[in-house]
Parts: sequence; C-alpha cells; structure tokens
Amino acid sequence: MEQDVALASGRPGRSRAGAALGVRRRPPAALDPLLRAALDAAPPGLIILDNSKRVRLMTRAAGDLLGMRIGPRDVPKPVMHLLAQSHWLDAASLQTLAAAFNGVETHDPREVLLSVPCPGGARVVHMDLRRAGEAGWVASLTDVTHSHETQDWLLEHASTDPITGLWNRQHFMLMLHDRLDGPDAAGTVLLLLDLKRFKPVNETLGSAAGDALLRLVGGRLSGYLRENDLLARFASDEFGIMLGESADRASIAGLSARLTDLISRPFFIEGQSITIGAHVGVASAPDDGETADILVANAGLALAAARADARGQLRFFEPKLDEEARCRRSLEADLRRALAGGEFELHYQPQVDMRHHRVTGFEALLRWRSPSRGLVSPTAFIPLAEELDLIGEIGAWVLVEACREALHWPEEITVAVNASALQVEAGGFAATVARALRDTGLPGPRLEVEITESLLLRDNGTVTETFKALRTLGVGLVLDDFGTGYASLSQLARFHFDKIKIDRSFISSPEAAGEHAAIVRAIAALGISLGVPTTAEGVETVQQLERVRDNGCTSVQGYYYSKPVPASQVGTLLARLHGHDVAVD
Ligand code: C2E
Ligand code: MG
Ligand code: MG
Repeated sequence: MEQDVALASGRPGRSRAGAALGVRRRPPAALDPLLRAALDAAPPGLIILDNSKRVRLMTRAAGDLLGMRIGPRDVPKPVMHLLAQSHWLDAASLQTLAAAFNGVETHDPREVLLSVPCPGGARVVHMDLRRAGEAGWVASLTDVTHSHETQDWLLEHASTDPITGLWNRQHFMLMLHDRLDGPDAAGTVLLLLDLKRFKPVNETLGSAAGDALLRLVGGRLSGYLRENDLLARFASDEFGIMLGESADRASIAGLSARLTDLISRPFFIEGQSITIGAHVGVASAPDDGETADILVANAGLALAAARADARGQLRFFEPKLDEEARCRRSLEADLRRALAGGEFELHYQPQVDMRHHRVTGFEALLRWRSPSRGLVSPTAFIPLAEELDLIGEIGAWVLVEACREALHWPEEITVAVNASALQVEAGGFAATVARALRDTGLPGPRLEVEITESLLLRDNGTVTETFKALRTLGVGLVLDDFGTGYASLSQLARFHFDKIKIDRSFISSPEAAGEHAAIVRAIAALGISLGVPTTAEGVETVQQLERVRDNGCTSVQGYYYSKPVPASQVGTLLARLHGHDVAVD
C-alpha cells in the first residue's frame, strides 16, 4: 500500500519508483509485517496524515478507540471524511476533531479530549496531534477513561446541559440528594420554573431560535441567583433551582416574582422581539418531601397547578395538589374518550340585531355531557383539550356539527363557531372549514369563525394565510372577547374583521355604567368608523340592553334574550323572539 511504502521510506506520499512505473498500489506486504503488527497493537493508536490532511495510516488501536476500521481503499482520503464513518463519534466529537485537524497549521501540538459514546459506556480518548517533520502530522490516541484528570472532565461533561451550559438534571438530582442527606436538609427549597409560550417560539422560529432563547433565559436566571444557589435545566423549557439557604414563603414569593419578571421582559432573537413568561412551583424539605425524588415530584405538581391557573404564576406545594393531580388524570382519561363516545353536543345562543330586533345568527357553544360528571362547561375542558392536543379533532367535529345544524334554519341566519388559537396556528384550519362546508353543503357566507385577540399577537404568517383562505370561502371573521387582550388598533384594521364582539366583562361588571361604558362607546365608534358591526356579549338585563344600544353596539348576545339552548329548541326560540312561527326543519 502507498502509505506503507511511505512509512517504510520515512516519507509520506507516493514513492518515486512507484510513480515512475505507474504503479498506484502495492500489496500490503510492502510494510514489514512485524512493524505493521507492532504499530497495530501498540497503544497509543496512530493516525498519520500527509500535508493535505489525508490519512496515510490508521492503526488498528486507533480504529478500536474511534469505533471504525479503514481498508486499503480508504487511503489516502481526507481525515474528516474517514472519521465521519465512525459508528461511535457523535456530532460534538466530530466537531472537536474537525477543529483540531483544521486548526493545526503550525508546529504547535494540539491536544483534545473526546467523549466517545461507545457500547458499554462513554470512553474518554486523549488525542495528541503534532507535526511529523515537514511531511505531515501524527495523531496519537490514548484511552484515558480511567485517569484522574479525566474523571473531572467526565463529570463536567456528563453534568452540564449542552444547550445552556447550566447543570443538567442528573447533576442537580445528585446535589439535591447530597443536601437532603446532610446537616442542611431542613429548609431545602426547590423551585421548578417553566416558560410560558416557549413552544410557539420553537415551532415558528425554529429550534436554533428556541435554543438561543433557552440560553438567554439561563443567563438571566443565573445572573440574578446567588452563587450558592444551584440552577439546572431539567428538560425542554423547565429549569430547577435549589436555594443555597433556607427561606420563608414571603421571600420565596418575592424571589419568584423577580425571576418571572426578568423572564417576562422581551428577548431579542434573530431580529425579533420575543415575549414569554414563566410559572413557578415550589416544594421545601422536610414538609413537602424528604427525598430528592419526592421533592421534585411535588414541586412538579405545584408547577402544574401554577400552569393550570390562568392568573397565577407561582404555586407552593400543598397535599391537596396530589388529589387534584389524580382528578386531572381521570379528567384527561375521560376527555380522551369523549369524542369517540359521542359525548359532545352543541348549544346555540341567538345574536339579535339592535335595529330590526331580529335574530341574525346563533353562536355554537360546545358542551360535554360526561356520563360521570354531567354537563361540563367548555371553560373547564377546552384548555385541557388544547394541552392534550385534542382540540383539532374536537374543533373539526364542532364545525361539521354546527354547519349541519344551521342547514335546518332559515337561510338568512348564520352560525358562529369558536376556534381555539392553537387550532388555527396548527395549520390546516382553512382546509378543515372548507371540508365541513363541502360535506354539509352549508354556503360559506352562513358560517362565521370567532377567534380571540391572542391569535393576532402571535401571527407567524399561518394566521394571515388562514384568514385569507377563509375569506375566499366567504366565511365571516369575528374577533371575540375584544378588550380583554392586547390587540392594537392597527391589528384590528389590518385583519379586516366582519364583526367585533365586546367582552362580557365590559357589559355586566359593576363598572359597566361608568368607565366601562366609555370603553364600549369607544369600541362601537371604532366599529362604525371601520365599517364593522359590534356585538355586545353577556347582556342580561334591560338596563344593560339599553346602555349598549345607546352606546352604539349594533347587535346583542346574552341571557336577556336567551341562554344557549340545545339544537332541538332553536325553532321554538326563534318563534318566541320573532313573535311568530319560524320554519325550522
Ligand atoms: P365565548 O365564545 O365568549 O362565548 C360566550 C360565553 O358567554 C358562553 O359561555 C355563553 O354561555 C356565555 N354567556 C353568553 N351570554 C351570557 C350572559 O348574559 N351572562 C353570562 N354570565 N354568560 C353569558 P360558555 O358556553 O361557557 O363558553 C365559554 C367559552 O368557551 C366561549 O366563550 C368560548 O371561548 C369557549 N368555547 C365554547 N365553545 C367552544 C368551541 O366549540 N371551541 C372552542 N375552541 N372554544 C369554545
Ligand atoms: Mg365566542
Ligand atoms: Mg366571547
């Protein structure tokens, strides 16, 4: 072989005699078999490279350390080309090797440590790369897995999170375990923190932006915490904090508020301003658990409770959370079965036009008739359906059912369906609507889709595209619960809604006659100037009816006219509201 010749002659490269005779390869026997065997067997493993960083020789010991074998046909090939064939070297090790080989242009030797994830556990390989005269380089590789310095290096690499550089969960658990075994066990405080709205960042801006965000969050948290606090990334967007000193509830709440505040400030990634938030769950030893596993599990329950609480950001563990978690698991199991079990139904609430006092449409409102729980309100199960990723399927059912039902009504009456933000963001929503219209035969203009402000704020292109497609179908777009979110006036104008529904809180709250009336008036005036009708939600009394009418709302929905009723009662309801019989099939 060429490299054997080169070795034997002490000079890498094709031998002159071989080149002159046009002989490209010689049989392997060219290298003294004894020398070959000695090189193959001797630690360290050797890789010999020519000046173009092409491998001239890789001994068997080197191949064994790196999880590869090369044959005569592999020589001479660029070193990284060959190393990429290893079964064991992962992307990180390959990067380290590439940096070493590409960087060694001088006579300075280079040393690197590699963690090679081979079968039977990671092995640490030390590589020393140095110049071999003027002819090339020699890399010698030694297994140093069991040396003392390596143990520290290994510990460091097996304990940190590669994305944020923070400790990882494994290391955190060891430290927590040690603390709970030691004299300072009592007063150990554990905070679990997770990020609100991290998933959409990862999904819409990509995982590189997600990783960058995690690093920035890690930086803000570690910048604020004290030196003796321990911070780790536990999983995806979840961080663990073990306080260095015991603390009472008030100071933990204060710390938690400051941490959530820090995380709620905008981050700038890839030219975009990203605003997220955080939830925190807290458990302390010994009251909430005396072992690391129980303490983390209970902080996890507190975190889940903080997540489920729309207003809350912080929850301390309390024993009833255990019971709540059990209930939640059973609710989850029931909800997963509900659609297949035919347990959903729609109720319909009329929307009445203020000028003509006519019902112009009904809003379809979802109900879950659970065999064990009775009639469950959507506010109790929609967030869970979103979390369990069931909302797409349920929403598709709602669309078909509402369109099918509306076909029985007089043809000037529309049906409005609520769409969850997640449903729209997931993509494919317009296609689901188109399918529902096609399968039921309901004309597009008789359907309205109600969405909330949060969707506008998170628009990543999918929302705009979806709205465009819905318009093409003739479907009306309604902005629901307006006034509760943060949509700006420019967003209102940009999305061209067909209707704005003013949230019930402005109509029926104690302030409804005062400052809220001014807000209603302003929204109604805005509707008039944009040419968009406004519906007042939650009108219960004649006083409220008169007020919203005087304030300029064009239609009303509320218990004053009717609560939502089952489909079977829509005909009677229309007859009552219109004062005469209305044909409903
Ligand atoms: P929403 O879309 O704002 O619906 C109006 C809610 O206000 C309904 O509650 C309705 O029953 C209630 N309401 C109407 N008039 C009055 C009134 O005069 N007084 C009072 N106190 N309440 C009134 P519901 O049916 O419990 O629905 C709550 C929310 O659940 C809906 O708010 C909507 O956001 C969501 N939702 C309902 N059905 C669906 C659905 O099919 N899909 C999705 N994604 N969400 C739905
Ligand atoms: Mg609605
Ligand atoms: Mg509403």
